[in-house]
Amino acid sequence: MENPRLEHVFVVGSSIAGVRACGGLRAEGFEGGITLIGSETHQPYDRPPLSKKVLSGEWEPDRIALVRPEELDKLQLQLRLGVPAVALSTAERTLTLRDGSTLSYDGLVLATGAATRRLPDQLEHDSVFELRTLDDSLALRSRIDAGGLRVTIIGAGFIGLEVAATARALGNEVVVLEGAPAPLTRGLGADMGRAVTLLHADNGVPVRCGVQVVRIEETDSGQHGGALIVRLGDGEVVASDLIVVGIGVTPVTGWLEGSGLELRDGIVCDATLNAGPIGVYAAGDVARWPNAQFDGEEMRVEHWTNASEQGLIAARNMLAVARGDEPEPYNSVPFFWSEQYGVRIQFLGRAAGDDDIRIVKGSVEERSFLALYGSNGVLRGALGVAMAKPVMQCRRLLLDRLSFEDAVAAASAF
Ligand code: NAP
Repeated sequence: MENPRLEHVFVVGSSIAGVRACGGLRAEGFEGGITLIGSETHQPYDRPPLSKKVLSGEWEPDRIALVRPEELDKLQLQLRLGVPAVALSTAERTLTLRDGSTLSYDGLVLATGAATRRLPDQLEHDSVFELRTLDDSLALRSRIDAGGLRVTIIGAGFIGLEVAATARALGNEVVVLEGAPAPLTRGLGADMGRAVTLLHADNGVPVRCGVQVVRIEETDSGQHGGALIVRLGDGEVVASDLIVVGIGVTPVTGWLEGSGLELRDGIVCDATLNAGPIGVYAAGDVARWPNAQFDGEEMRVEHWTNASEQGLIAARNMLAVARGDEPEPYNSVPFFWSEQYGVRIQFLGRAAGDDDIRIVKGSVEERSFLALYGSNGVLRGALGVAMAKPVMQCRRLLLDRLSFEDAVAAASAF
């Protein structure tokens, strides 16, 4: 049985990591109180469809509930939605919410995720959008769903490319502007990022890389045939009816300044996701931890599967420690997927930037391939474009830390 001192657990952040933490606590038999705190007023919802099926109008918001009402009852959660946490004292073991309430915790899971980055002095305008929340998605959908707009997307990351594909499918004229030499460079490396560009070109969406966005400006009506322009570093202007800024996110840790936790582009955790003080764990986009699967490399991963798994592990480890058992390290092969123009892009592992990349099945020309990533002779990652089954078979090879050449031989037969 768990330590009797662990009577009430607070989970800060009501997205996938936080919700999974609540479910994990109950699944492991925790019978104490659980309060789930969220900054948005919506019931917990799933984010991946926000740039795809919700944005396209194919799904209504009720399809993306993370917990059905009957499950909420079973979990016996106290919900504090729309009341973000604003301060934490690990010395006092208290949490303060925006409404001024101060709560004493026995256990705490920090799953506050990440917030969108903005351009310096980004223009406030009702045709300039970011996309992180359900409200963002619905507001953007109501503008692009009729088609016929010139939509400019700044940033060729996941948000930029998925929104581009959705906006295009709705009949808009879309262009993507990216500062790096290729899209998705951090996730896939430049070469494979360029392969994704071709998918967009096939669908009439130019992804213009290596461009410097100086600023978004409002024009005198009619000057450029539209209300907005994006001014580029070489003086060129891109006339736009609507702009989506998708230039990345930063972990939401500002409210933890002075809390006693170590913050360094996220909350610094040990291998078990413990953030330092006993009973305090982090999970999801906000957590930085050493991943033994990659020689203890410190990582912060901004993807759904990571958040989901970490929420569970944080809950399990909190209870294990309270019982006097050994907590388990979170050793993982990161995974993400994206869907653009109906093509599924999946990546397992970690791209390093200087990886040896080998296409072992299919080809870029066919827009269907499996590519392996190796570094120092060891397999580090696998990318599948329209190769759903073979890429998932590579998970075993990554877990076994196969040599790159052995992995190439094995995966060629998938
Ligand atoms: P992201 O994936 O980090 O991509 C942002 C892109 O914008 C990067 O390529 C970045 O280049 C570029 N960029 C940065 N500043 C720029 C500028 N001033 N002008 C032009 N380009 C610029 O972030 P995101 O697409 O905004 O997505 C937000 C978060 O949601 C991420 O955590 C992402 O993982 C998550 N998400 C995931 C999925 C999925 O897994 N399918 C889908 C949607 C969203 P540099 O890297 O060189 O800075």
